[in-house]
Amino acid sequence: MKKYAFSALMLLVFETVAITLWLTKDNIFYLFNFSYIGLSISLGTFLFAKNYKHARRLVQLLVGLYMLVYLGLICNENMQIEGFWYYLFTGVFEAATIHYAVAKIFGPLIFGRGWCGYACWTAMVLDFLPYKTPSQPRKKLGWIRYVTFVVSLVFVAALFLAKVGNIERIMFWAFIVGNILYYSVGIILAFAFKDNRAFCKYICPITVFLKPMSYFAMVRVKCDKDKCINCGKCEKVCPMDVDVRDNSRKRKNGTECILCMECVKNCPKNAL
Ligand code: SF4
Ligand code: SF4
Ligand code: SF4
Repeated sequence: MKKYAFSALMLLVFETVAITLWLTKDNIFYLFNFSYIGLSISLGTFLFAKNYKHARRLVQLLVGLYMLVYLGLICNENMQIEGFWYYLFTGVFEAATIHYAVAKIFGPLIFGRGWCGYACWTAMVLDFLPYKTPSQPRKKLGWIRYVTFVVSLVFVAALFLAKVGNIERIMFWAFIVGNILYYSVGIILAFAFKDNRAFCKYICPITVFLKPMSYFAMVRVKCDKDKCINCGKCEKVCPMDVDVRDNSRKRKNGTECILCMECVKNCPKNAL
């Protein structure tokens, strides 16, 4: 039963959020929304425990497409970081603010960067590219994420300061243009650096929230030192260059772990 505990925990967390928001905000959408996401994640982690090879990708498609197509394109909600700033400035605890609070700010205290491994619609596409594990050492370009973070904030702040009309419509188009930019830059970087996750490592502004919060994550991959034979296979298959053999929170690239479980699947000694 222990191997299904994570699925149960995820379902519990998301159902708690779903019911709490449904009742406090008197809006049944939240019950549907967070139940759907929780069920998708639980299904994926359950299938993973059953050794289904494509479990993670299945969840990524179920959640990523729902958020991109249904929430973004059909419901016109900007779930990107600009949408978060927009709702924050309007003082409304809705849509993107709730999404960020759950998936990207407080949720990572429990499930680390599970969002990046199982739900992000940008990575959903990037993970189809051919460079699943990086073939080159990590570049010192992580500072770019702070630039994109500030640019997104300044962009939305400027709209408010200039008192531009119909910001909601601008936010919808910002979502379309932002996604086209993310996909284009992500695909170009993946081919240039031969690394599907180059965009996540160097450009993505959301990591400014995700990295510090996931430092304290409850759910982490740990290594049983008694079983480990130091073969190094876990590091070779890791898309995020995490030194997973080191159990300390300060391990190399520890806040980059997306819980993809490639290291766990490939460890010959079941040490992870
Ligand atoms: S780092 Fe950014 S782009 Fe990459 S998976 Fe996480 S949220 Fe998505
Ligand atoms: S793959 Fe397993 S045995 Fe090999 S170094 Fe990693 S944890 Fe140790
Ligand atoms: S391979 Fe292991 S350490 Fe690397 S990101 Fe995936 S779960 Fe984390």
